[in-house]
Amino acid sequence: MDRVADLGHGLSGAAVVGAGWAGLAAAVTLAEQGVRVTVFEASRSLGGRARRVSIDGVDLDNGQHVLVGAYRETLRLMLKVGADPGALLLRLPFELRYADGFHLRAPRLPYPLNLLAALFGARKLTFSEALGATRFLISLRARNFRVLPDCSVTRLLDEHAQAGALRTRVWEPLCVSALNTPVERASAQIFVNVLRDGLTAAREASDLLIARTDLGRLFPEPAAEYVKARGGAILLGVPVRRVARVPGGFRLNDAEIFSCVVIACGPHQAGQLLVQLPALDEALSAINAFAYEPIVTCYLKYPESVSLPAPMLGFSGGIAQWVFDRGRLGGPKGLLAAVISASGAH
Ligand SMILES: Cc1cc2nc3c(=O)[nH]c(=O)nc-3n(C[C@H](O)[C@H](O)[C@H](O)COP(=O)(O)OP(=O)(O)OC[C@H]3O[C@@H](n4cnc5c(N)ncnc54)[C@H](O)[C@@H]3O)c2cc1C
Repeated sequence: MDRVADLGHGLSGAAVVGAGWAGLAAAVTLAEQGVRVTVFEASRSLGGRARRVSIDGVDLDNGQHVLVGAYRETLRLMLKVGADPGALLLRLPFELRYADGFHLRAPRLPYPLNLLAALFGARKLTFSEALGATRFLISLRARNFRVLPDCSVTRLLDEHAQAGALRTRVWEPLCVSALNTPVERASAQIFVNVLRDGLTAAREASDLLIARTDLGRLFPEPAAEYVKARGGAILLGVPVRRVARVPGGFRLNDAEIFSCVVIACGPHQAGQLLVQLPALDEALSAINAFAYEPIVTCYLKYPESVSLPAPMLGFSGGIAQWVFDRGRLGGPKGLLAAVISASGAH
C-alpha cells in the first residue's frame, strides 16, 4: 500500500481495474492522497472473490472467509473507511477444534506462552508431538524462516519428523486452509511465511477473525463510499478490454486517458490486459506459469434447532475440511457453511 500511496503524488487521475478487495484497497489509498480515482469493475457487484451473494432473499457470501489478526493492513483500511473491525468481526483466539474431539486452543497469553499452552494443553496431541512442534518452530526461527527453494510442505514436515495428529490435525489443515493447495504441491516457504506472520508473531496475529456480517459490508461497500465521497467513481458492469500506453499515461477502452492504472484483477484475468503492455512481459510470463486450485463453500440449511458446538468445526478424512455455523455468526439459525479447499481425494 505504501507503493500505491507513492503513485498518488502528482497524479491527476488514476484508474483501478477490478473492484475486489485489492482494487478497492488501492482506490481508497489513492483517494486518501487526493487523487481522483475511477474504478472499473466488470461484474455488477463489489468485492470480487470475497463478496456478498443473495440467495432466496438471504445474504450470504460467495465463499466462507476467515481473516486472521495478522491482516493488519486490511484491518487498518477497514477502520479508515468506517467499517469497525471490532463490531463486524468475531475475534477468537487461535483454535483448531474437530468433530472427533481433537482440540487445540491458544489462551489469551503473550506469545510464546499462548502457543506453548495451546500445544501442550491440546486434547489428542501427545506430549512428544507438542515437543516436536515446538522444536520445529524453534528451528524455523533459527533459520530466520527461510527454507530451501522448491521445497514442498510434505518434504518440510518429513524433514522435521512432524507426524501423527500434529501433522493431520494441525500443519496439513493449516496449509490447505491458508494456501488452498495440497501439501505435496504447496510451497514450504509460503507456508513458513504464514507460520512466521500468524503463529509466531504477537498473540493478536494468530487470532481468527470471522465476519458477523456479509463480506460486502465488511469492506467493499464502505470502501466504495469512501472513494465516491472523495470525488472518485465506481463503474460497475464496465470491463476494461483495452489498455494502451500513450504519452502522459494509459488510454483505457480507446477512451479516457489516466496518469496511472492499477491492474487489480485476479491473475487468471489480468493476462488479457498485460499482454497489451509489452513492458510487463515479465509479469505476464510469471502469471502464465500459475496453476489453479478449486475452493468451494456449500451452504447447508437445517432446522433452526441445529447448531455446532463452536462457530468453526474441523472434519478430518471427509469431503469438507471446515464447517461454519452461520447461525452463531449473525446469520440464519440452522445454516451451515461447509468449506472444501483444494483438489485431492476429498
Ligand atoms: C470460496 C473462497 C474462499 C476464500 N477464503 C478465504 C479466506 O478464508 N481467507 C482469505 O484470506 N482469503 C480467502 N479467499 C481468497 C480471497 O477471496 C482472495 O484472495 C481475494 O478476494 C482476492 O481479491 P482480489 O481483489 O485480489 O481479486 P478478485 O477478488 O478476484 O477481484 C478482481 C476483480 O476484478 C474484476 N475484473 C477482472 N477483470 C476485469 C476487467 N478486465 N475489467 C474490470 N474488472 C475486472 C473481477 O470481476 C473482480 O471483481 C477465498 C476465496 C474464495 C473464492
